[in-house]
Amino acid sequence: MAEFGLIDRIRARAAQVRDDVVLGIGDDAALLQPPPGMQLVVSMDTLNDGVHFPAGTGAALVGWKALAVNLSDLAAMGAEPAWCTLSLSLPDGDPAWVDGFLDGFLALAAEHRVALVGGDTTRGPLSVSIAVHGLVDPGRALRRDGARVGDAVWVSGGLGAAAAALAQWRGGGAVDQDLRERLDRPCPRVRLGRALAGVATACIDVSDGLLADLGHVCAASGVGAVLDLDALPGAGRLRAHFDADAVRRLQATGGDDYELCFTLPAGADAVALAAAGAAATGIEVTRIGTVVAGQGVQALDRDGRPWRPASAGHDHFA
Ligand code: ADP
Ligand code: MG
Repeated sequence: MAEFGLIDRIRARAAQVRDDVVLGIGDDAALLQPPPGMQLVVSMDTLNDGVHFPAGTGAALVGWKALAVNLSDLAAMGAEPAWCTLSLSLPDGDPAWVDGFLDGFLALAAEHRVALVGGDTTRGPLSVSIAVHGLVDPGRALRRDGARVGDAVWVSGGLGAAAAALAQWRGGGAVDQDLRERLDRPCPRVRLGRALAGVATACIDVSDGLLADLGHVCAASGVGAVLDLDALPGAGRLRAHFDADAVRRLQATGGDDYELCFTLPAGADAVALAAAGAAATGIEVTRIGTVVAGQGVQALDRDGRPWRPASAGHDHFA
C-alpha cells in the first residue's frame, strides 16, 4: 500500500482522545495546547526488528511494546503522558501489519489517554520510533540526580521475568507464557511514577538491568548504593526454571522489565509513602537497598558477600 494510504489508515484509527490537540495528523505539524504553568517532558525510544524484539514478533505486540517503553520513560520522570508521534520504517507497506500494530499501540494509548498527533512513514528495515510528550508540575519531576546518602532504594513489581523469557527463547526450549507476557507486554508504571513525583528523591526505569540503571542514578547523584540481592522481588516465579545463580543474574542484570527503581528519604514516613503509592496504584513496591557515600552499586548476597556479575546490564555497543 502507498504511503498516503497507510497514513490515512493510521489517521482514521487515531481517535481524538484529548481536547488539547488543536491540530493532529494531517498537516505539516501538530498543534498542541499545553496547560499553563506545566513543564513539558519529552522522550524518544526506538525499537528495531531482531534487536529490541525477536524477529517475527506479532505486530500488535510490537505496537504495544513500542509505546510501553516510551511511557515507561515518562513514568520514570513522574510525568502524565499526553501526546506522541510515531515514525514507522516498514520493509513493505503491508496494511495488515499496520492494522495489527495499531491494535496494540492504540490499546495502550487509550489506557493512558495519549493522543497520536503525527509521525512519519518510510520504507526501510522494520523499525519503530516514538516520541512521547508528558506534563509535570514545575519542580516535581523525578530526576536521576537527587539521591542522597541514607535514602532507601526501592523497586516496583518484580525483576527478571522479561530477561528469563528471552533466555528461554534463545535457548530454543519451551518459553513460560507468564514470563513471555512480561517480555512482550510490559506495563509502564505511569500511575506509580505520578504518585512518586515530588516524593521520591530520584527515579529511573529498569530497562537495561537493575545494576546498570541504579548505577546511572548513583553516578548522576554522586553517591553509591548497597543492594540486598535476596530482597529483589519476583524470584519465586524464576526458580521453577533457573538455578539460584541464574535467577540472581537475571534479576540484577536482565533488562526489559520496565519497573521503576527509586530512592526515598529514610525513615518510617518514607515506608508509609511507598505503601500509599502502592495502594494508590495497585503495584507492589519493595525496599532493596540503601544509598551510601562513595560510588558504584555494591550487590551483597545472603551472607553479606559482594557479588559481581559478568556484566551489569545491556549495552548496545559493548
Ligand atoms: P510531510 O511530508 O509534511 O512531513 P508526511 O506526508 O510525512 O508530511 O505526513 C503527513 C501527515 O501524516 C503529517 O501530519 C504527519 O505527522 C502524519 N503522519 C505520517 N506518518 C505517520 C505515522 N506513522 N503516524 C502518525 N502520523 C503520521
Ligand atoms: Mg514527513
